[in-house]
Amino acid sequence: MTARIALHGSTVHKVFVSDPPSANALTPLGSLEELVERDRDHDCAGFGVHQVCVKIDAVADLPTRFGRFRIVAFWNNRDGKEHVALVHGDVLGQSDVLTRLHSECLTGDALGSLRCDCRDQLGVALARLAREPRGILLYLRQEGRGIGLLNKIRAYSLQDGGLDTVDANLALGFRDDERDYGVAAHMLASLTVRSVRLLTNNPKKVEELVRHGIGVTSRVPHVIPANEYNRFYLETKAHRSGHFIDFEGKPHTPEQDDPVVVEAVEGDLLGGR
Ligand SMILES: [Zn+2]
Ligand SMILES: [Zn+2]
Repeated sequence: MTARIALHGSTVHKVFVSDPPSANALTPLGSLEELVERDRDHDCAGFGVHQVCVKIDAVADLPTRFGRFRIVAFWNNRDGKEHVALVHGDVLGQSDVLTRLHSECLTGDALGSLRCDCRDQLGVALARLAREPRGILLYLRQEGRGIGLLNKIRAYSLQDGGLDTVDANLALGFRDDERDYGVAAHMLASLTVRSVRLLTNNPKKVEELVRHGIGVTSRVPHVIPANEYNRFYLETKAHRSGHFIDFEGKPHTPEQDDPVVVEAVEGDLLGGR
C-alpha cells in the first residue's frame, strides 16, 4: 500500500492505494472483456515519475488497413490522457509478445507530415504485428516526445531557423526527450503480458520498461528509410539521442543489414523511395 495525497476543496486527504500491478502477480484471464470487469475498481500508486495509474475501460474490434486488431481503451484519473492498445491475437498471460510503443504524433500520424518518420513507423509496425501470431501496439498520448503539440510546433519553428531537434527542445526549456514509459509499463502489466520483444531503435525504451519491471527478451530493429525532409531529424536521433540508426560516419550496427520492410504503407507517399 502506498499513500497518495489527494485534494478535495481545501482539505488534504491521504489516500491509500495499492502498489502497481505486476503481470506475474495478476491472475491470467480468458478475454480482454474480463479485464474491463477486473479493472472496474482498480486504483494504484502507478509507475514512473508521474505515477499515472491506468485501467482498462473498454474493448472493441478494430479492423485496420494493416490487419485485424482489437482496440483496448485505458482510462486514468491522473492526467486525463486516453491511451490505447491495439492488440493482435491472444496476448493475455503470454511471453515474448512483439510490442511497439508508439508516441502520438498528430502532424505525422494523421496529417502526413514528412518532418518526422512517425506515420511510416506506425504503419510498418502495425503491418508487422498483424503478421505475428500475437502483437501489441501501445498508442501513447505523449505528443512531441512528451512536450505537447503546441511546444512541438514552437520547436519546428526554431528548427526552421537552423536548430536541430535536440537544441530546439533545449531552447524551449525541455530535455531532449520528456517521455515517461511508466504508463506503457502499467498498460502491459494490465494486459498481463509477461515479457515482450520490443520493436524499436531506441535503447532508452528497453531500459525504461525493464526498470519498471517488464521483461524485455529482445530488441527487434525498426528501421525506416529517411526522406529528404526528415533525414536531418533522423541523423540527429542517431548521433545525439543514441538511436540505433545507421548513417554515413556512424559505426554500422549489424542489424542495419536487415532488409527494411515498408511495403505495407499505403502507396509510396514519399515518391520512389
Ligand atoms: Zn494502477
Ligand atoms: Zn512525428
